[in-house]
Amino acid sequence: MNVYDSEKLRSILLNKGYSLTERPEKADVIVLNTCCVREHAETRALGRLAQLSQYKQKNPEVILAMVGCIAQRLGERLFEKTPYLDLVLGTSQIFNLPEYLENKIKLANVSLTDSQTIFTDFLPKRKNRYTSFVAISRGCNNFCSYCIVPYVRGPERHRKLEDILREVQLLTESRCLEVMLVGQNVNSYKDKNFDFPDLLQRVNDQTDIKRIRFMTSHPKDLSLKLIEKMAELSKMCEHLHLPLQSGSSKILKKMNRGYSSEDYLDIIKNAKLKIKNLSVTTDLIVGFPSERQDDFEKTLEMVKEIEFDSSFMFRYSEREGTEAAKFEDDVPEKEKLRRLKILIELQKQISLNKNKKLIGKKEEILIDGRSKRDKKSWKGKSKGNKTVIIRDGPDDFLQRNLLGKIVSVKIVDCDSWTLFGEFEK
Ligand code: SAH
Ligand code: SF4
Repeated sequence: MNVYDSEKLRSILLNKGYSLTERPEKADVIVLNTCCVREHAETRALGRLAQLSQYKQKNPEVILAMVGCIAQRLGERLFEKTPYLDLVLGTSQIFNLPEYLENKIKLANVSLTDSQTIFTDFLPKRKNRYTSFVAISRGCNNFCSYCIVPYVRGPERHRKLEDILREVQLLTESRCLEVMLVGQNVNSYKDKNFDFPDLLQRVNDQTDIKRIRFMTSHPKDLSLKLIEKMAELSKMCEHLHLPLQSGSSKILKKMNRGYSSEDYLDIIKNAKLKIKNLSVTTDLIVGFPSERQDDFEKTLEMVKEIEFDSSFMFRYSEREGTEAAKFEDDVPEKEKLRRLKILIELQKQISLNKNKKLIGKKEEILIDGRSKRDKKSWKGKSKGNKTVIIRDGPDDFLQRNLLGKIVSVKIVDCDSWTLFGEFEK
């Protein structure tokens, strides 16, 4: 969501006559868009801000702005932390940045329910031309006990179906082939009588986009209708990102997630049954308050049973103002790290085994660039959301023209994170 917001902000600024530079020493305005979901993200952003303030020190004309979730969370307090900061803009105001710059207003941490400008129709200015995010909702009403998102992004608000369709169609006209529909909980999307599966149906039928993905689904709101649509619609990618968070129903309850580990297993079993070649990924937290060794083992058991293709794995990070911040953060840091390491090792092995099963199979790859390590190879994404490196092309001419093409390749090798493919001779 933050990447998408930054892309939109770029587009808005360009439209106002600003030009973009990646080099801070050349900039008149430096904008830092920020995330505060875990303490680590926040510490890094504040570190980056301190580092960027050197440009302001060298040239007092430079405007240094901090926007997004940390700006929303800390507001005025940021000026005390960083005297060189000029402007603080909360999440509901970031697209108004040009007006704040023109009027030289310093602080705009206004109410989150002011939702006038949260969906802008400016097309995101993307680095990757062939894929794009498209927000379908903003905010979240779930209040998982560990999570700061509802406090900094505000209540859930849904974008109009026609606006989403228009944005997707416009993106296809600038060579975009794949969209990722994003929201904190896409499953609760509603516009009049249209729900999320209806939205998928329309994006599939009424736009020229080639591939559709979405993120994130909340297990408590995932309907059978969604699974059926995923199985039925030709443009849907066979990938479901479904955060489990913990394998222990006791911990899930304390997290206020609204499902048990059994409920979660049922959803996955049904989804795997109905959707061919489904790839399943998840988010997991270790060391949540009161998580004992047996709770942690339940997470390991679930990971083994479900065999996720990959996972985002985090150690619990206390966030001021959340419900969980009232619980005692009783798992020592060392123990959190120990559990995280075990979990990562297990997932790495499972990812490798899952990838090995794809060797010999054909995959449809959307090519989006060259491999970073080997500039002669192409890189792309499979429908199951795996990175694929294509080692050899048919000939030089074709090689040069593969960018932005969807091609069929045979998988010949893999590691835990990457598949390696070849064109069939
Ligand atoms: N709306 C999405 C994603 C929210 S943030 C969802 O519901 O899944 C992305 C992930 O960050 C979460 O799924 C969770 O695994 C992790 N996360 C959120 N708050 C956290 C915290 N306080 N400590 C550690 N991980 C956290
Ligand atoms: Fe946070 Fe839960 Fe909302 Fe996701 S669903 S953003 S984890 S409160």
